[in-house]
Amino acid sequence: MLSELTPQPADKILELMQLYRDDPREGKVDLGVGVYKDADGRTPVMRAVKAAERRLVETQETKAYTGLAGDPAFTEAMRRLVLGDAVEAGRVAVAATPGGTGAIRQGLELMRYADKDATIWISSPTWPNHLTIVKYLGIPMREYRYFDGESRGVDFAGMMEDLKGVKAGDLVLLHGCCHNPTGANLTVEEWASVAALLEATGAVPFIDIAYQGFGDGLDADVEGVRLLAGRLPEMVLAASCSKNFGVYRERTGVLMTVARNGADRDSAQATLAFLNRQNYSFPPDHGARVVQMILDDDDLRADWQEELEDVRLGMLDLRQQLAAELRQRTNSDRFDFVAQHRGMFSRLGCSPEQVMALRKDHGIYMVGDSRINIAGLNARTVPVLAEALVAVGA
Ligand code: PMP
Repeated sequence: MLSELTPQPADKILELMQLYRDDPREGKVDLGVGVYKDADGRTPVMRAVKAAERRLVETQETKAYTGLAGDPAFTEAMRRLVLGDAVEAGRVAVAATPGGTGAIRQGLELMRYADKDATIWISSPTWPNHLTIVKYLGIPMREYRYFDGESRGVDFAGMMEDLKGVKAGDLVLLHGCCHNPTGANLTVEEWASVAALLEATGAVPFIDIAYQGFGDGLDADVEGVRLLAGRLPEMVLAASCSKNFGVYRERTGVLMTVARNGADRDSAQATLAFLNRQNYSFPPDHGARVVQMILDDDDLRADWQEELEDVRLGMLDLRQQLAAELRQRTNSDRFDFVAQHRGMFSRLGCSPEQVMALRKDHGIYMVGDSRINIAGLNARTVPVLAEALVAVGA
């Protein structure tokens, strides 16, 4: 049986991490993997997470199983964090999942379970895991244009033209904020146009939100998502706590659905629990409980929001510094898009040869499509990157 297996292609980003580790050069710069790093290159445990964990150790009296859909206090706190008052609670089903990836996987399983002929529409480009999970599950897939290689913004006209092809019951995967890998995002007006298109066609949005609080702020980042939730009869939404709570390895996330009415909500809730049962039974609880404690405690929440805001503003500052350095060095505004992008990533639009030259000649590691992790930079390395970009002719 095992001899039938063929080796799977290695994950490109993990491969890049290994190359970086093996590089003996002193001043090497890692702009690869999507993990937040502070100015010293560390990914710290957030203060509120530490405090909640301490409290949890002292007060937790059992490690017995939670519910199949996770701890209801956690799923409720996440519903409020993401959807706010956009839609009545009685239409929303939520289940805890192992991270945002687990939520996406469960959401796609839900979709296939509900209608195996429905197509999922995915932005070009997107987070590569979307593509591999969709392919693995054998779900019909189409791509829609998203990134404009010239302006490095959203090709909104192309996106809307491609999405004219959606059929009722198809799902359209949209990044809730801070698009990965491009950093280019829809304006609120564009979200409204997407809502109108989905309304007219009967297609359902599938939101992946993994960076709430990393772009324009906790509420501003979900303005588009809430607009869709308020206007459309149905929605699927996968939310990750990995980045905004810094609990990557705890595998913390939720899958939500918004249904037309309470009866559909109840069926969806039962299906979410059923799908958890089939795949891993009970979802992980530690990270979920920590997140819930933070969200439901005024002091912990205030401290978390303050630290998250520092993280967000730090990245924004690095964006502005990089754009300014490049403006000065190129005597042009063609890199100003870096300051307009939001979240942890920007696709710079370099050729594969330039990406390779940055790695070989300058020790700067970015993903092959020229996605950089802004948080991998600091005040010292911003000018280094700007200089190197000019040197390779970007
Ligand atoms: N969606 C996107 C777009 C992401 O970038 C990530 C994290 N890299 C995730 C989902 C899921 O992250 P996790 O499974 O670690 O919560």
